[in-house]
Amino acid sequence: MISKKLAKAINEQINAEMWSAYLYLSMSQDVYAKGFKGIAHWYKVQFLEEQAHAAIMINYLHSQDERVILAPIAKVQTEWKSVLAAFEDTLKHEQKVTAMINNLCDIADEDKDRAAQNFLAWFIDEQVEEEENARDLARKCKMAEGHLGGMIMLDNELAARKYHTPSPLKD
Ligand code: MG
Repeated sequence: MISKKLAKAINEQINAEMWSAYLYLSMSQDVYAKGFKGIAHWYKVQFLEEQAHAAIMINYLHSQDERVILAPIAKVQTEWKSVLAAFEDTLKHEQKVTAMINNLCDIADEDKDRAAQNFLAWFIDEQVEEEENARDLARKCKMAEGHLGGMIMLDNELAARKYHTPSPLKD
């Protein structure tokens, strides 16, 4: 059985994942307005992924017979000074999310909650990937920024991103 403390923390994480979705949708709008449709598409896929993360957590609370309480989603930034600034903020944000997931793991450890530890392991792996992707994109963007050809290549590359349903949501 899940502890009240962990159930509350996962409820808060559901809100954080939805906030992340909203942040990436906002970044998508900003880079679209700057003329980068491919990068906007990449952020839109990111927006879908974050909603999937919230859905995975909702399913887990249901499996534990816990109520999901949805809190308001806080305001997000709407403009970035450059595409590079958006990617750098993406990396910083994902590092924060990693710390939040680690905190959930700490509670699961205190509780000796094996089911929760197992459940959270997927998010640990996911955060490694999220940070790596954000870091790579920030680096690539740093190399390309100021060179229109480079930015157009990056835009074309990111236009090809496909959304894949995360494995915990697959039937
Ligand atoms: Mg997430």
